[in-house]
Amino acid sequence: MKTFEDYVQRLYKMKPNVYISEEKVGRDDPRLKGGMRIIKETFDKAHEPEWEDICTATSHLTGKKINRFCHIHQSEDDLLKKQLMTRQLCHRCGGCIQRCMGIDSLNALSVITYEMDQALGTDHYIRFNKYMEYFQENDLVASCAQTDAKGDRLKRPHEQVDPDQYLRVIETREHGIVVRGCKVNITNTPYADEMIVVPCRYMGPEDKDYAVAFALPTDWDGVKLLTRPANFRKSKFAEAPVLEIGDCETFIIFDDVFVPNDRVFLNGHGDPRQTPYAGFLALMFAHYHRHSYTGCKPAVSEVIASAAALVAEYNGIENTSHARDKISHIIGTAELVFAAGESSAKHSEKAPSGTQVPDEILTNAGRRLAGEMIYEEYKILADLSGGLIATLPFEETFFSEEVGELAMKYLQRNPRVKPENILRCFKGIEGMAVSDLAGVMQVAGLHGGGSPQMETITMMMRYDIEKLKDIAKYLFGIKKKLKRYERPTVTPRKQLEKFREAMLRKRNQE
Ligand SMILES: Cc1cc2nc3c(=O)[nH]c(=O)nc-3n(C[C@H](O)[C@H](O)[C@H](O)COP(=O)(O)OP(=O)(O)OC[C@H]3O[C@@H](n4cnc5c(N)ncnc54)[C@H](O)[C@@H]3O)c2cc1C
Repeated sequence: MKTFEDYVQRLYKMKPNVYISEEKVGRDDPRLKGGMRIIKETFDKAHEPEWEDICTATSHLTGKKINRFCHIHQSEDDLLKKQLMTRQLCHRCGGCIQRCMGIDSLNALSVITYEMDQALGTDHYIRFNKYMEYFQENDLVASCAQTDAKGDRLKRPHEQVDPDQYLRVIETREHGIVVRGCKVNITNTPYADEMIVVPCRYMGPEDKDYAVAFALPTDWDGVKLLTRPANFRKSKFAEAPVLEIGDCETFIIFDDVFVPNDRVFLNGHGDPRQTPYAGFLALMFAHYHRHSYTGCKPAVSEVIASAAALVAEYNGIENTSHARDKISHIIGTAELVFAAGESSAKHSEKAPSGTQVPDEILTNAGRRLAGEMIYEEYKILADLSGGLIATLPFEETFFSEEVGELAMKYLQRNPRVKPENILRCFKGIEGMAVSDLAGVMQVAGLHGGGSPQMETITMMMRYDIEKLKDIAKYLFGIKKKLKRYERPTVTPRKQLEKFREAMLRKRNQE
């Protein structure tokens, strides 16, 4: 396993291809430090004995001890530990841990490349495992670039006026492919070693050029990162972990980029038979990522609940019934979302590749609840805080020779709490609720991992409503018997089996 220092040294050797406003900057730009600070937790904790049980795993490829953020889940226990690790590490950063997207997409690729090889006789799984060994050996950090620019939302990729609105292969050569397009809203890429690129939707036969997946270093030739950093306003007078963190969201431009074959995991342009796997891969990544959300989102809710409880105490209202009632709603959501993820790990199955896949209905139900509640949680925090989180004079004012004492005097509320701590509390919540980064986190809570509507679509694709209706038919006397209840879902393994059969049938017919 590598250390945070190893990771930073790697980043500093990268070519500058990060564009912030009008500047082109290197990885040493101070605006990228907040994001790196978050990734630091994932390296540091893997080296601490107290955290080792959840933050490390044993590689199924080499038998070596690896960082859990580089692991392909092999069991229910792996999924549970990943979820718990995510929750715990997010508490320590006050939000998203940012290293899950890459490994979530790699888990999805492990399932789908295996299936492709079985049905089509390709060698993608072998390539993938070689890449995975390299990834684990170097303890790499990856982003996942799934969301395309998408252009007209109601048109399929091949129907767009501008064919580049979805990332596509423009040429298949002997040693690799050339891709063009743009992935948008991508987290962490300027401080990731690699980006894992996967399709964002189902692709029909006419969309074959858009059925593409690969991995590349983030400073690869022709890759341009148009980045929007967001940070909290730093504190001059007091250290506070939450004020050190930051985030970067990026448009990744692929300006006719060559990808060598050993890094290509799906290519419908070169082999149209691979096209149907694009949609499966898109959903499988979303699925793993939504399962990670059942770890991080409870932590975000708990961070909000914790701040709400503290500010209620500092405002002297903590024992009022309305404050307790409001905080209980945030705690309730956190517990339910985590329980959905735990239960989905308990109902998980092994894919034929050996990778453990969580239950889809439970994962999506948990993720959707989290997305739907996010603004309600921030509303409760703002409600119990009062207006000061939006109006607090700058920190320096409280330490000014001329007006500092006066400013502190009028900050006083609960007499048992020192005004310095009241200042820290309100400054922390100001960061969490009304800063530039707070806005990003709120939208991330809604759309990250897929908007609630996407979870609804996935759930309804997998849930057998006809079987569900049997309950009503029995109760209303339409059906005489009601069979013992089984959750009416199509499990990932059943989907994979059905899909493989269909692909083999098609291959035999050709
Ligand atoms: C902070 C943040 C971080 C993110 N990080 C990542 C990341 O690391 N990697 C990544 O790949 N993605 C990432 N995303 C992207 C995220 O997954 C998408 O934002 C999300 O899937 C929604 O897609 P969109 O933004 O294109 O919105 P749209 O899909 O345009 O959605 C806007 C509205 O249009 C509706 N809509 C869209 N299409 C249709 C249709 N055909 N018919 C009817 N209604 C439709 C939607 O339901 C929604 O209500 C991130 C997003 C955020 C906000």
